[in-house]
Amino acid sequence: MPARYIGALDQGTTSTRFLVFDPEGREVSRRQLEHRQILPAPGFVEHDPVEILTRTREVIGGALAAADLTGGDLAAVGLTNQRETVVVWDPSTGRPWCNAIVWQDMRTERMLGALAPHRARLVERTGLPPSTYFSATKLQWMLEHVDGLRAAAHRGRALAGTIDTWLIWNLTGGPDGGLHVTDVTNASRTQLMDLRALDWDPDLLDLFDVPRAMLPVIVPSSGPGRFGLTRSRGPLGAEVVIGASLGDQHAATIGQVCFEAGEAKNTYGTGNFLVLNTASRLVASSSGMLTTVAYQLGGAAPVYALEGAIAVTGAAVQWLRDQLGIIQSAPDVELLAASVPDSGGVYFVPAFSGLFAPYWRSDARGVIAGLSRFHTRAHLARATLEAICFQTRDVVDAMERDAGIHLSVLKADGGATANDLLMQTQADILGRPVVRPVVAETTALGAAYAAGLAVGFWRDLGEVRRYWRPDCRWEPVWNEARRHEAYEGWQRAVARSLDRKTNRVDLL
Ligand code: ADP
Repeated sequence: MPARYIGALDQGTTSTRFLVFDPEGREVSRRQLEHRQILPAPGFVEHDPVEILTRTREVIGGALAAADLTGGDLAAVGLTNQRETVVVWDPSTGRPWCNAIVWQDMRTERMLGALAPHRARLVERTGLPPSTYFSATKLQWMLEHVDGLRAAAHRGRALAGTIDTWLIWNLTGGPDGGLHVTDVTNASRTQLMDLRALDWDPDLLDLFDVPRAMLPVIVPSSGPGRFGLTRSRGPLGAEVVIGASLGDQHAATIGQVCFEAGEAKNTYGTGNFLVLNTASRLVASSSGMLTTVAYQLGGAAPVYALEGAIAVTGAAVQWLRDQLGIIQSAPDVELLAASVPDSGGVYFVPAFSGLFAPYWRSDARGVIAGLSRFHTRAHLARATLEAICFQTRDVVDAMERDAGIHLSVLKADGGATANDLLMQTQADILGRPVVRPVVAETTALGAAYAAGLAVGFWRDLGEVRRYWRPDCRWEPVWNEARRHEAYEGWQRAVARSLDRKTNRVDLL
């Protein structure tokens, strides 16, 4: 009997999940597990790559068992992952040289000064400004600080990659012949790939002093022969085609069926990421958007995108939970925020990784403004949800300036879109309707679509477009005056977060 399902592994910033989809893109089974956020010093954010592998094994086994399936029931699997995060490991043992440095990590802030004179070249070649966000400075930091790593890299004793590369290498055999590859979307976030040539740029490898030998081969995002087969001894227990692999925001763009120029989606997870499809056009941004590869499916030409990346949105909710302890779980924030009619004039700018789009200021620091003795944790919870929405408004305004378009409705997805108050607040702050599809797990769905298309499980993009269905739609209810006043208050709070004199907290 032909395999009836497609699996998708979504290795995110906060959790790893495995989902199984049926031929109409409906979820059949899911298992999800969080992993530790390791915060050894202010500005440092790490993950344990071995823990990520353990979670991967557990969620695959769990999701298959829950639906009484085996790996043999899957026609293919698609992978998708948190981007920019760097892992370096020894290929003979599979042991990481150190913890993964996560995309939110700011330890390389001091290295940015040396990049400033190269800003124009970096933006022109990679679509990305100098920032702690991208992989290049993180890998450079590892090569400079991890004992023996640089020499090992030159001797073939150290391989580097983003999380996709780490997973594929392990799933396809690890020390026993694992494939060392990455796809164009993940590579486009390293700041080492030339966006036009779709290959490592020798000048940039020189600039960041990264040996090419430790980097993976760059391939398109999907295709039956690109990412190999899973090993039968591995977590799927069978040889299954890895049909596709692409960065989480790129997969979500496919899951939200944004296949035409001008179509956009906004994903609400650890951070928020607005991606606008620009088809074959590489649009240079003048408003702080990133130029990036949206996806490259099979043998087709690459599709490009503009992206508005916000570092801290759902992560601010985690901060309320883990650092302040004012909620027990992330979903609790909705009830707490709804217990007050508004934020009472409190603004929270969660610039924990500096501010990304549209500001690109690694030196910005978090601010809570407008406090009085009257305020409670409920106001802070409400201000946290509003911060997610104000940051999105900043990005939507900038994106529209750049691309000369008007988004009449915002397509939302991601873990935090389960929060109805957040979605209503977004419609109010943006002054546009917000719509959430039936499958809000669009990241996993997009990876599944890309993998299924690669093996002929689905025919073409037109077929998967038909499976997209709206679930809920929120209309703005605030009047223009309230929207205007609230947004002005936000802009004043951002100005404080950017003020070096008052908010300077130096990192180690
Ligand atoms: P990622 O893929 O980046 O790990 P997810 O899409 O799984 O993210 O979303 C998880 C994020 O969403 C976490 O940062 C969490 O704090 C936040 N989140 C989850 N549920 C809610 C909720 N109901 N309201 C607000 N934020 C939420």
